[in-house]
Amino acid sequence: MRSFHSLRGYLKKKDVFNRAGLRFSQLVRGRHAFGQPKIIQIETTASCNLKCVMCPHGKDGVFSDGRKAFMTHQEFANVLDKFPKATSVSLQGVGEPMLNPDLPRIVSEAVRRGMETGFYTNGTLLSSGNCEWILRSGLNWIIVSLDAGTPEEFKRIRKGADLNKIMSNLKGLIKAKKELKARNPSVGIMFVAMPSNVNEISSVIDIAVEAGVDWLSIKGCHGGLSSNEKEWAVSEEDFKKLQAAIKTEKAKALTIHMDSREVDPRIRGPKKSRMKCTWAWEKTYISVDGSACPCCYALPELGMSVGNIFTDDFKNIWNNAKYTQFREKIKNEVADVCEKCPLY
Ligand code: SF4
Ligand code: SF4
Repeated sequence: MRSFHSLRGYLKKKDVFNRAGLRFSQLVRGRHAFGQPKIIQIETTASCNLKCVMCPHGKDGVFSDGRKAFMTHQEFANVLDKFPKATSVSLQGVGEPMLNPDLPRIVSEAVRRGMETGFYTNGTLLSSGNCEWILRSGLNWIIVSLDAGTPEEFKRIRKGADLNKIMSNLKGLIKAKKELKARNPSVGIMFVAMPSNVNEISSVIDIAVEAGVDWLSIKGCHGGLSSNEKEWAVSEEDFKKLQAAIKTEKAKALTIHMDSREVDPRIRGPKKSRMKCTWAWEKTYISVDGSACPCCYALPELGMSVGNIFTDDFKNIWNNAKYTQFREKIKNEVADVCEKCPLY
């Protein structure tokens, strides 16, 4: 009897049943999901100091003026309480997380709970003071978005930002990390590939090498808010340019991840048979107002909220009518929100 109890305790500790439920859900992709998400994304800030061309913030009228700007530390802690199985959290949505005055406490809260914690930033607010709390916070990773490596193109894409300032902030963070001999956070650069910026990859690689980042990641762009596919999806020729750039001698000094599922035009596209996304069965996205959404592209502003975590328990949301209908829909046909998604 004792050994049965210790086996049960061991399985519980290792979260075996939850993992098995999630795995089963990913494989079957039925209406219902089993297990609870281990990975969650929480939009801690919905406001931004930039107006990037590929972002709702850069498209007038997409977001209503009344959008809640920040999630408070208390709201964030209450959200985490509802995800006891989650082990990993990323803290951004459609906004700049570092604008949130509660971000240091939010990071501490997630780290205190033993969660792998990180966020994307546009890099504008990586002042030395902010670098200091970041380096002492236990944050696991931070990614600076850099979609161009020449000042003119950077200014065109990331409206409101200055490349030289971002570079100086990035270098400052890495220098301070070295001085502190800190292991965390790992520091990465994210390059979102679009037809208009593929030629920038070479200069972004230069910056990544010069700054000494831990890795460079290349992803595709979600075109959900653009009307013209050519604005966002890279062509085969563009993809070859990216491939060539990451094989150059200088790029060998870097760890580079290029997610072919998202970038390679030969394997992406709104075809049911190609549907590889498992977001709706294993992860969830919480927006700044508590809306639970199937993924970070299916925003409440697009009518995709499936419930509200501020007012309901996640177990009542995870398999409710809206969530199950969404799963059924994306399994059987292309939902509007998935049509231009690099993960579809
Ligand atoms: S920094 Fe991020 S949230 Fe802000 S406008 Fe650019 S893409 Fe959007
Ligand atoms: S938009 Fe669709 S395909 Fe893309 S991540 Fe969301 S659910 Fe998955």
